[in-house]
Amino acid sequence: MAILLIEDEPKTITFLAKGLREAGFEVETATDGEAGSDLARSRQFDLLILDVMLPKRDGWSLLEEVRDAGIRTPVLFLTARDSVRDRVKGLELGADDYLVKPFAFSELLARARCLLRRSPMARQDQMRIADLEIDTQRNKAVRSGVALNLTPKEFLLLAHLARSAGEVVSRSKIVEHVWDIQFEPDTNVVDVVVRRLRAKVDDPFEIKLVHTIRGVGYALKTG
Ligand code: CA
Repeated sequence: MAILLIEDEPKTITFLAKGLREAGFEVETATDGEAGSDLARSRQFDLLILDVMLPKRDGWSLLEEVRDAGIRTPVLFLTARDSVRDRVKGLELGADDYLVKPFAFSELLARARCLLRRSPMARQDQMRIADLEIDTQRNKAVRSGVALNLTPKEFLLLAHLARSAGEVVSRSKIVEHVWDIQFEPDTNVVDVVVRRLRAKVDDPFEIKLVHTIRGVGYALKTG
């Protein structure tokens, strides 16, 4: 079971990560909202433990972005603000549970285990489209048994297209999910990375999987 812990207080993060590892979990950590969002969207976790007040991007907007990307991983919010409004906001945005700081580690562990039990295990570690296999747990993509040597952005893009396989993904959605920025109409950054991705995923193979939908975006599909 893998947990992503996003928290900016060094003491808290050290303490929680140590306790969770001792409890048998694999733990990855991020200390700001942007790094946390990148990690959450680049591989599959079983649980996100998310602080609300974070540098660069707060826990709410991070959660919104993660849910928008179609990631259903259970989320446990850590909040120092004991106000009903803040808790409701977190739950409305798709958090599954919350803990108000300060809390006892035993309570965090109990709630984490409860969320993991309730989780439908809707994890998509392994995705497969034709002869292309994508493993978001290991950040690996293989086609026809050949490992594709993708950069992190190329992998994020491929995984993002794969989660919506068969559907068109707009350029602006790609920019949002892969680069964390709002769409600028004149940017051709997507096309550049798609071209590089194609060179690795499609060029060496007969069947093309990355399709351009003119004026709209891209789709990963077999035909
Ligand atoms: Ca904080």
